[in-house]
Amino acid sequence: MRDWLKREPIVIVEGKGAVLRDAGGNKYLDGNSSIWTNLHGHRHPKINAVLRHQLGQIAHSSALGLANRPASFLARQLIHAANSGPAQNPGRALRRVFFSDDGSTAVEAALKMAHQFACRARPGKEPKFLAVGGAYHGDTIGAVSLGHIDLFHRAYGGLLFKSDSVPSPYCYRCPFNRAKPERADARQYRRCHWECAGRVEQKFSAREKKGNAYAAFIVEPLMQGAAGMIAHPEGWLHRAAAIARSHGALLIADEVMTGFGRSGPLFACHQESVQPDLMALAKGMTGGYLPMAATLTTQRVFDAFLGRHEEFKTFHHGHSYTANQLGAAASLASLDLLQSRQSAKARRILEKTLRAELESLWSLPAVGDIRQVGLMAGVELVKHWETRERFPARQRVGIRVCEAMARRGVLTRPVGDVVVLMPPYCTTPAQARRMVAALRDAVAEVC
Ligand code: PMP
Repeated sequence: MRDWLKREPIVIVEGKGAVLRDAGGNKYLDGNSSIWTNLHGHRHPKINAVLRHQLGQIAHSSALGLANRPASFLARQLIHAANSGPAQNPGRALRRVFFSDDGSTAVEAALKMAHQFACRARPGKEPKFLAVGGAYHGDTIGAVSLGHIDLFHRAYGGLLFKSDSVPSPYCYRCPFNRAKPERADARQYRRCHWECAGRVEQKFSAREKKGNAYAAFIVEPLMQGAAGMIAHPEGWLHRAAAIARSHGALLIADEVMTGFGRSGPLFACHQESVQPDLMALAKGMTGGYLPMAATLTTQRVFDAFLGRHEEFKTFHHGHSYTANQLGAAASLASLDLLQSRQSAKARRILEKTLRAELESLWSLPAVGDIRQVGLMAGVELVKHWETRERFPARQRVGIRVCEAMARRGVLTRPVGDVVVLMPPYCTTPAQARRMVAALRDAVAEVC
C-alpha cells in the first residue's frame, strides 16, 4: 500500500475495443481484459444497445420472491451452454441457476450448497472439502478457506475453516520432479507416472478410511490463475474428476476465470469431457460490463433444498442485487456474441497469434516458462532459465515488468513474477503482437 501511495495512479476515462485511454490522453492496450473480465471489447455496440434498451425498462428489481425476464432467459441460456459439451451425461446435467454478484459469491454459494447437501445426505458427519495446492477461489471467508495461498491464510487464519489439498499439477516445478507427461523422453527428469493424480486417489482413500468421505472437490479447470497461471497437463482434470466421482464427492468447477471461451471451448470442463455438479461463473459473464455471477447445479442438489415451509430447508443465502436486470441483459447479449461463428473464428486466430508471438520470448534468459491455455497466458520470470531460481520478493520483478509495459502502452497485472496476458477477444493480431513486443522489451529492460 505504501508503494501505491507513492505514485499517481493511471486514471482510466474511456475504452473502445481493446484500447483504454487515461485522463492524460494516453492510450493503452487492455492486456488482461480489465482483470480477466472483458470479452468482446469495451463499449461494444451490441451490448451498449441492449443496456440502453434495458435502462428504458428497469435497471433493477429484487429477485427475492420475484422473478424478472432477462435473468430468467439468462438462466435458460446458461443451462443450455453448460450442457453443450461433449459426452455429457443427461442424468448429471446442470439444471438450476443461482445468481449472485461476483466470483467469490458464486464460489461461496457453491460451497454452502455442497455443505448443506452433504449434511442432509449424511447427517451427523461434518462435511470435509478437498482443493488443489495454490488454489484461489475468491476473497470471502468460505472461498479463502477453500483456497491454498499461504499469504491469505496467514492473514486471516483465525477466521477460516480447514480444507485439505492435493499438490497442484505444476509441471514446471513438479513436486515429484518428473518430466511433463508429454515429454516422456526428457533426460533430466524421471518419467511421469501421473504421481499428482495418484495423490488425489490417496487423499480420497485416506479420508474414507477415517469414516468421513469428502463432501466435495473444488478445481479451477485446466488453469489455476492466481496461483501463477499454472496450466494443468492434459488429462489431469479428467483423471481427478473421475477419482472424485468414484468416491461419491460432488465436483465443483470454479470457471470464474476459465469460463466463457477463455480456454477455447465455452467452458474449460468441456475440453476434458468433465461434467461438474456445481459450476461457479462470473468475470466474463456480462462481457466485462457489470458485476454478476451464477452458480449452476444439478436437479439432485436442488432437490435437497425442497421441503414443507416449517422444515426450513430452503437455501439460506441471497443478495440484494441478485438477478440484476441490467447485468442479465448484458450477459444475454455477451453470450449471443460469444456463440457466433465470427467470435469463434476471431478467438482461434487470436489464440494462434498469441502462441506464435510468445514463442519469441524463449530466447530471453529470464523467461523460465510460458504457459498458454486458449486465450490465457502466463510468462514465469526467473533469475535464469537454467536454474529456475526465483527472484527475491523485494526486487518486485513482476510489478516492475508490468510498469515497464505500461510505459510501452500495454496494461496488465502480474501474479508474483508471472506476467499475465489475457487479451479481450476483439484484440487484432497486430495488437496482440504489440502486447507481446511490450512484454519482451520490458523483460529485457528490467531483468
Ligand atoms: N475464482 C477464480 C478462479 C478467480 O480467478 C477469481 C478472481 N480472480 C475468483 C474466483 C474471485 O472472483 P471475484 O474477484 O469476482 O470475486
